[in-house]
Amino acid sequence: MLHLALRVEQDIFLVRQRGREVAVAVGLEHQDQVRIATALSEVARDLLAACDGADVTFAVVTYPDGRFGLQIDLAPVGPLPAGTYQPQSGAVARLVDALGVTTLDGVTVVRMSRRAPSNAAQPNAQRLTELRAELERAVPGDALDELATQNQQLIAALDEVRSQRDELAVLNEELQETNQGVMALYNQLTEELEETNRGVVALYAELDEKSAQLRAASESKSRFLANVSHELRAPVTAIIGLGRLLADEGSDPLTAEQTRQVEWIRSSAADLLTLVNELLDLAKAESGRIEPAWAEVDLRAVFGQLRGTLRALATPSEVALVVEEPPHPAVIRSDEVLLAQVLRNLLHNALKFTERGEVRMRAKRREDRWELSVTDTGMGIAPELHERIFEEFYQVPGRTRVGGTGLGLPYARRLVTLLGGTLELCSEPGRGSRFTVVLPTGGA
Ligand code: ADP
Repeated sequence: MLHLALRVEQDIFLVRQRGREVAVAVGLEHQDQVRIATALSEVARDLLAACDGADVTFAVVTYPDGRFGLQIDLAPVGPLPAGTYQPQSGAVARLVDALGVTTLDGVTVVRMSRRAPSNAAQPNAQRLTELRAELERAVPGDALDELATQNQQLIAALDEVRSQRDELAVLNEELQETNQGVMALYNQLTEELEETNRGVVALYAELDEKSAQLRAASESKSRFLANVSHELRAPVTAIIGLGRLLADEGSDPLTAEQTRQVEWIRSSAADLLTLVNELLDLAKAESGRIEPAWAEVDLRAVFGQLRGTLRALATPSEVALVVEEPPHPAVIRSDEVLLAQVLRNLLHNALKFTERGEVRMRAKRREDRWELSVTDTGMGIAPELHERIFEEFYQVPGRTRVGGTGLGLPYARRLVTLLGGTLELCSEPGRGSRFTVVLPTGGA
């Protein structure tokens, strides 16, 4: 684009001036124009001192990414002191994109370059010719002119530095304000969090207190039940005994009416004794006073025993009682007495609430558990009552004529829980019920 010869001190100003003009011509920004001019004058001064000057060439080059820039080669006139001149390591190098000594086709040059801004239009061949002509026409100013320009640039640079410093101060102030805001917000949040925490802690304390109260209430209920039942058992047993005595053939003969009344007293007292006993059992189970006696239990033996005792009971002839033989090996770690009590209770209920069909008990071995089920073809239980029948004293309305206390199922469930299992119900009104005791094979 342009060639210049750098030979004497005066030329340094010329090179500097031309450098700035070329930078303007190819569209570099103002700051970059000053940077290029400064870098050029520094390198020119070095080369003049080290090797009697250089030939300076300005060119527009295109980079692989499609953008372009200004490249300036300074070819030294004399030989460069080998390896000692390293412009890339000094402060001057920071003024341009690249600065260094390169050897091209055996010729050593000092090359510097600066990319044009991305929005600048690359001059085409015609524009380059025009630029070259313009540059040739321009009369170079003398050293004084260049000094004046340099001074102006220095003033502008200082001005810019000052305005940047002012801007920085404003920014700092804003930052400080923001910081204060953030700190205030943080403090407020911390306070709110602490308050919430205090609330949660208070809530937990209240919950603890309530559950302690609940525990105490449940314990006193169990104690009360146990005491009352215990106190009732003796007089009720006495009434039964006295009734038996009165009806005894050895005693004075009673009229038919008296015999009927004594019989009534006896059966009422027997019902009462059942209730008292069941209450006592439940109270014991609830207060944790029942300790299972863990042992290897043979389910075949338990099933066999229940088969025997329940067959002996008077069952309606329309109901068949089937107790299946448990699959081998039918061993479970449990408490034989408690387990038999639960199953007997379920069988009793099934027989009580089934008018025809069958009652079947069977044992199934799953991977790690036993499922012992009692299925009947009785009247079934509505789904909304599936949980209620496990509540104390609850009996499905309209079925009370078959007797009972409403304590059997809650007690059975307690016992199963003590044995480490669950008592589940599957039933549909009119289709029968299935109660299943699920127990881990290895005990609780
Ligand atoms: P009880 O049998 O002494 O009334 P339970 O606690 O054993 O008390 O049972 C509660 C209620 O659940 C019974 O009154 C009955 O209404 C219902 N129930 C229990 N087992 C069956 C069953 N196999 N079929 C239908 N209803 C049942």
